[in-house]
Amino acid sequence: MEKILEIKDLHVHFSTYGGTVQAVRGVNLYLNKGETLAIVGESGSGKSVTSNSIMQLIPTPSGKIVQGSIHFKGRDLVQTTKKEMRAIRGVDISMIFQDPMTALNPTLTIGDQLTEGLKQHASISKAKAKEKALEMLRLVGIPNPDSRLKQYPHQFSGGMRQRIVIAMALICEPDLLIADEPTTALDVTIQAQIMELFKEIQEKTGVSIILVTHDLGVVARVADRVAVMYGGKIIETGNKDDIFYHPQHPYTIGLLQSVPRLDMDDDILQPIDGTPPDLFAPPQGCPFTARCAHAMQVCANVHPFTSHLSDSHQVECWLQDARAKRQPV
Ligand code: SF4
Ligand code: MG
Repeated sequence: MEKILEIKDLHVHFSTYGGTVQAVRGVNLYLNKGETLAIVGESGSGKSVTSNSIMQLIPTPSGKIVQGSIHFKGRDLVQTTKKEMRAIRGVDISMIFQDPMTALNPTLTIGDQLTEGLKQHASISKAKAKEKALEMLRLVGIPNPDSRLKQYPHQFSGGMRQRIVIAMALICEPDLLIADEPTTALDVTIQAQIMELFKEIQEKTGVSIILVTHDLGVVARVADRVAVMYGGKIIETGNKDDIFYHPQHPYTIGLLQSVPRLDMDDDILQPIDGTPPDLFAPPQGCPFTARCAHAMQVCANVHPFTSHLSDSHQVECWLQDARAKRQPV
């Protein structure tokens, strides 16, 4: 399979008055062409910082990619200039965020907003731009697109607005779409519809998708592969079945046990006790040590190596490493 994106040893730091936050600590990740990769983790795990790094959307001057590379279609995005990045954004890579309202301008019609991106990046006639806007509204399932083009964002429901944002993100036919918690602001039924829409769009356009979410239900619906982040690191990665049916990292297992399922009573839900590690002073060993029921002496002292369980499935946990001496802490 052709890799469209490859992140190697990414480190991202933020300087604050309280010190330096090591938000991303050596992330390795790839995305195959035409697939959906979900980056999963709780808030502060580094998932948004990782995806924002791809688009160079780390707030400056406090945030900085201090190490690593992000190869996209043969070039390292970490090394691109601001001007080059502006040309890539929206055309080669598009991003959509949680709240559709902040992405839409309340004073412009949907038609104007849809065609704005197109006109910025290509010389295109008014008629062609309108045609493309209509095509996009049809693609994302907006009924009566002709009359809808002249309407303003407030005339649409929340779910319809997120569909419009998705249409805007796709109008220049990007190779990569990054969606950061794209359905968190929507109610559950609409969430499911939007996730279906992502799948349909991928089938029709072949776009590769990175989906950032804390919601494993969303992941189960659309992801081909999953990367689980914890404490600024990817602690387990695999295809959907590896992660849902054969999870190996105690954190992944805990995460799955804390998800409500239709076939389970609510009282069997197991929240994970404890708090995530302090990224001002990240632990030198496994970041999950303080919360892990299986923690051994080695876990606190040495970060686990990556164990390759199969071609698709990797985990960073001493339980999978024969070299670990099994002394409990
Ligand atoms: Fe638990 Fe140790 Fe594995 Fe970390 S490395 S998840 S502390 S067993
Ligand atoms: Mg986030």
